[in-house]
Amino acid sequence: MNIHEYQAKELFRKEGIPTPKGKVAFTVDEAVAAAKELGSSVSVVKAQIHAGGRGKGGGVKVAKSLDEVRQYASQILGMQLVTHQTGPEGKEVKKVLIEEGSAIEKELYLSMILDRDTSSLAFIASTEGGMDIEEVSAKTPEKIHTIYVDPSVGFMPYHGRKLANAYQFTDPKHQKQIAILGEKLYNFYLKYDCSLVEINPLIINKAGDLLSLDAKLNFEDNALYRHPEITELRDLNEETPGEIEASKYELAYISLDGEIGCMVNGAGLAMATLDIIKLAGGSPANFLDVGGGASKEKVQAAFKIILSDPKVRAIMVNIFGGIMKCDIIAEGIVAAAKEMNLKVPLVVRLQGTNVEQGKQILANSKLAIIPADDLKDAAEKAVAAAKGAK
Ligand code: GDP
Ligand code: MN
Repeated sequence: MNIHEYQAKELFRKEGIPTPKGKVAFTVDEAVAAAKELGSSVSVVKAQIHAGGRGKGGGVKVAKSLDEVRQYASQILGMQLVTHQTGPEGKEVKKVLIEEGSAIEKELYLSMILDRDTSSLAFIASTEGGMDIEEVSAKTPEKIHTIYVDPSVGFMPYHGRKLANAYQFTDPKHQKQIAILGEKLYNFYLKYDCSLVEINPLIINKAGDLLSLDAKLNFEDNALYRHPEITELRDLNEETPGEIEASKYELAYISLDGEIGCMVNGAGLAMATLDIIKLAGGSPANFLDVGGGASKEKVQAAFKIILSDPKVRAIMVNIFGGIMKCDIIAEGIVAAAKEMNLKVPLVVRLQGTNVEQGKQILANSKLAIIPADDLKDAAEKAVAAAKGAK
């Protein structure tokens, strides 16, 4: 789960991680009032959307007066902000963060992730702050430093020194502040079950203090049940209707930009299905895993989500019945197809538990289903059907 920058910064403040003062605003008047309340001579107006690269897209503006706050807030609120992370259609800005302006001496990069290869938590530090970290990694990989923390040992003072070295800090004040920040972030990451903490840029301001100028947090969905206060921060405006519907039924659904809707059980099979569709010359419209013990209702919901995507020209169902039974899948498909008045070609490959009953249910339904025997056969038929339907 993602949250907004202003929410992330509120959590940072709560945990003593230094970040500029700020307030969220939903209207231009609120933005001006917030800037007045902050009372700093320079304010920053920042679009709040779940995507990075806002600065380059015109979603972050430094205002030197209340008039400028008004001007920038009216520009940014309601705009369709396009960044390299939003796709060409952009995202509508419904709120802005009004922040006291910081005088920047230097911009740095700092993030924390879980490194599965080493089973440790990793800090990623770079002197190249404010830039796209992917670009730094591609062009100047030597400028990216990874510092691993073994969770059985925890954050130790030498990790702090390693961070200070990565930034080539010579000032004892910076060395001390980065060590404190590193430890706080480490504890933060564990406390809230994050999957990513990213501060880009982490700045040194003119007073010589470290400050988180930006904040991006991702949380591990499977641990959200432990954090009702985080779950409350979810912003449904930032999710597509399909994703919202899917989360109601605990379906793993990700919308992609192709034309073949996929319904699969198991993440591995889902990945294989996406790959084989590509191999057959098509492109998947989504990743949808109904999971192990899905009910008929869940399958029906999954099918409806796929059908409500206007990009979908054909559907490929690829189920390997184990715990999940093929007849349950078939019942769900038939119910949803009838309810939604199925118009696109449907290719179904069923294997495993109760496969004969499943096939029988599909056959009895009188739906125009294209049966397939194996993965390759199903993908080829789906790709051909999608091309025919265009
Ligand atoms: P992003 O583009 O979505 O990652 O948004 P950021 O929060 O990282 O802001 C983008 C850029 O705006 C930063 O890298 C800074 O250069 C600039 N910026 C943001 N806040 C301030 C500020 O308080 N003062 C100044 N001078 N620049 C700022
Ligand atoms: Mn940033």
